[in-house]
Amino acid sequence: MLFPLVQAMPTQRNHHAIVIGGSIAGLLAARVLSEQFDRVTIVDRDRLPLTAEPRRGVPQSVQPHVLLTRGYRILEELFPGIGEALHAAGAVSLDWGKDFLCFQRGNWAPTTEAASGMGSYTCTRPLLESTLRQRVSQLRNVEFLQEQRVVGLCSAPSELGKANRGSIQGIKLQQGDTLQECSAQLVVDASGRSTQTPQWLQDLGLISPPATVIDPGLGYATRRYRIPPQFQPDCKILLISHEPPHQPRLGYLAEVENQEWIATLGGYGRDYPPLQEQGFLQFARSLSDPAFYQAIAQAEPLSEVRAHRATANRLYHYEDIELPDGLIAIGDAVCALCPVYGQGMTVSAISSLILRRWLSQPQQRRSLTFNGASFQKQLARSNAFPWSLATGFDSKVPTTKGAVAQSWAGNLFQGYADRLTDRAQKDVEVHLQFLEMAHMLKPPSTLLHPRLLLKALF
Ligand SMILES: Cc1cc2nc3c(=O)[nH]c(=O)nc-3n(C[C@H](O)[C@H](O)[C@H](O)COP(=O)(O)OP(=O)(O)OC[C@H]3O[C@@H](n4cnc5c(N)ncnc54)[C@H](O)[C@@H]3O)c2cc1C
Repeated sequence: MLFPLVQAMPTQRNHHAIVIGGSIAGLLAARVLSEQFDRVTIVDRDRLPLTAEPRRGVPQSVQPHVLLTRGYRILEELFPGIGEALHAAGAVSLDWGKDFLCFQRGNWAPTTEAASGMGSYTCTRPLLESTLRQRVSQLRNVEFLQEQRVVGLCSAPSELGKANRGSIQGIKLQQGDTLQECSAQLVVDASGRSTQTPQWLQDLGLISPPATVIDPGLGYATRRYRIPPQFQPDCKILLISHEPPHQPRLGYLAEVENQEWIATLGGYGRDYPPLQEQGFLQFARSLSDPAFYQAIAQAEPLSEVRAHRATANRLYHYEDIELPDGLIAIGDAVCALCPVYGQGMTVSAISSLILRRWLSQPQQRRSLTFNGASFQKQLARSNAFPWSLATGFDSKVPTTKGAVAQSWAGNLFQGYADRLTDRAQKDVEVHLQFLEMAHMLKPPSTLLHPRLLLKALF
């Protein structure tokens, strides 16, 4: 089943926003834009299926996608009842305190007996995306332009190149051999890792944002399995963590819809997991604990092993340039993170709330010229934590390219956090504090609470 195609038409209306990319960041952006704009158009190069299928424009869609608690809560805020819809479609509800088993630093972290309050769902990425898309398609002022590629930005030529930073007034669209323009007051780039906005800005004679890349050389290999009927689960998600600098390998196993597992092996520093049956199993055997191997060795495979290696952390510093009016960027197009920490979709969700707040500020409401520079500054502040978490951990891997050198204060905090992590393997309270931080429910400063300081020291 596919969404009906909408014809691209240059709009004469005053209030039109265009979103480039109909994936997670684009859908969430469209949801909040629909509150302020008469019309929102989501453009995607793919045909967008209503059903849960992987698609070419999102090559990571066959890989596991953890929905962190913060991300899930924001989805519920934007789409009330989305959890029930996911559940009805087969997603598995989980409590991260009770249902998540994590092997790290030589031990299994404790789990809680009682509900931890940290809930979300585990399902495949296509199921999550298609459920969101169905909800967005019900918004009366949002339309989808499918199988159309954005190939450039339209500017106000007379103003560009002068002291004035100029403005973006729409996009250039390509469908087959046909090129056309589509105008809008605001263009939102949500085109993910393959964003071309930096190049398009250059093509217009404008400054493109500098990028920071920190590449841990991580490769994923993922396979789906049927959960054996006799399997007695004591968790819904299992993680055998890598342990830099000695152990570059990790395993992640999650229950998803249809009584299946999504099983992923990861190798840092280009220690890529093999894609053939035997090699895949052997790699699984080499993890720090046998639980992952023992589970999949008994199970019936339901798919090929599929690799994904485009995992570098990359941050475009839009906050540092004179961005033309009428343009903003969001999601992986700005801040693409190494996937191990499961933050990407949650970062997109947080960004959509920042967008909502920014759009409702008096200066945006009063004028039809959207000064995206102020949005990018707010977004940069919010992205700083997930970026430093992912790049900080990845920089502990000695082979990481562009690794960040720790300051003495950073080293001190890292040493403290390591002690606390050891403690978390035996102390459920400390473990929950770490989980809350990893789920972006609390800032890292939470770890400096005197109670935790005492626990780490003694
Ligand atoms: C291997 C891997 C595993 C991951 N695991 C997790 C996880 O566990 N948890 C998590 O939260 N996040 C995870 N992520 C990150 C997550 O996939 C993204 O953060 C999330 O999808 C938000 O991305 P996005 O919407 O910005 O871009 P994307 O999801 O990449 O989508 C970009 C969209 O733009 C469209 N597009 C691109 N260029 C154009 C163009 N020129 N014209 C028209 N359309 C265009 C594409 O077709 C696509 O639909 C993972 C990423 C990878 C690579």
